[in-house]
Parts: sequence; structure tokens; C-alpha cells
Amino acid sequence: MDVYRDDEAFEAAVKGTWSETLDVVSDEFAEFAAEECEFDDPTVKDFTVSGQAFTGRVLGFGSSKHRNGTHNGHMPGTPLPKGQTCSACRWADVAIMGVNTEDNVPMFLVLTIGKSTIPGEDQRVSTTWTPDALEVLKSLYVKSKNGHPPKIPIPNATAFRAAAAVDKSIDRVLERFEDMVPLVPEDDIFG
Ligand SMILES: [Zn+2]
Repeated sequence: MDVYRDDEAFEAAVKGTWSETLDVVSDEFAEFAAEECEFDDPTVKDFTVSGQAFTGRVLGFGSSKHRNGTHNGHMPGTPLPKGQTCSACRWADVAIMGVNTEDNVPMFLVLTIGKSTIPGEDQRVSTTWTPDALEVLKSLYVKSKNGHPPKIPIPNATAFRAAAAVDKSIDRVLERFEDMVPLVPEDDIFG
């Protein structure tokens, strides 16, 4: 896949979010990151994570957000009952980024961003910084309940496979561990 922006798309992007420094917990970041995955020439740009500034590119992005307005266990706009999960109200975004550090060592940054639209709830972000593409894959595993082995959720697999399309060392890890990374269904009843 080789998809590059045409001049018009480039100009629109420069006028829009490209010129701002994006905080990775912002909604603008999620929109930007999802859009970046559609192109093979990720934009180098300034971001902040937990107040720390860095320059990098979005290599891959995935989200467990329920998109079609379906809520589970409560009426939209009302608080979630204790213990209830609703992926329209609380979800996780995953972004894999390529970062140029101060001393010019290329690093990967894996962001897991806990999102919530429930008033009073903070957005939470966890970070993994590593120069090693295999560590990126390892960081995408999530502990399962009831003693099942850890697994890679679909949004994490989506981000990893997108990153493999634009980053050679991630692609090599994907080739080696293809069977470990769930396939992302193109058209799925649960997609
Ligand atoms: Zn809800």
C-alpha cells in the first residue's frame, strides 16, 4: 500500500491540527492518529504526554470505542452503575509512535490511553518507551481475567499491523510472530 497525500490534503492538514502541539489524551489526538493511519507518510509533529514534549510520528492507532451510539447497562447521559462496562462511555485508545529523542536514538512509544466521557473521570495514559520493536509487541498484551493467558486485543492488533505497514522493524517482528497478532477483520459484525 502506498498512499500519499495530494497537495490539497497536505495544505488542509497543515492548516488544521498539524500546526498545533497535540496532547495525546485529547480528542484531537485520537482523530489525528486515526487519520494518519490512512497514509504511508506519517507526519513529523510535536506532541505532549503527561506534560512532556516530544517530536514524533504516529505509526499505528487502534480504539475500542463503540462507534454507533450503543450503550450497555445504562441510559446514555446517566452515570454507569458500579461494575458496569460500556464501551461508548469508557474505552481505550492505543497508539504506536516513532520518536526521535534528544540524542537522536529512534525510539518507539506505545501509548495506552484510557478514555471516558463520564463527567469527573480523568483520561489516563500509560507509556512504554523502547528502541526494540519486539518490546512494542510485548507491551500490547493485556492480562486476561480468570487466569487465562494474556492476549492482544483487536484495537492493539490494529495499531500494530498499521505500524508494520510504515515501519520496517515492526514489520519484521510481525512477520516472525504473525500467529500471535489477531487478524483485524475488515468487515465484522462486531467491528
Ligand atoms: Zn454508556
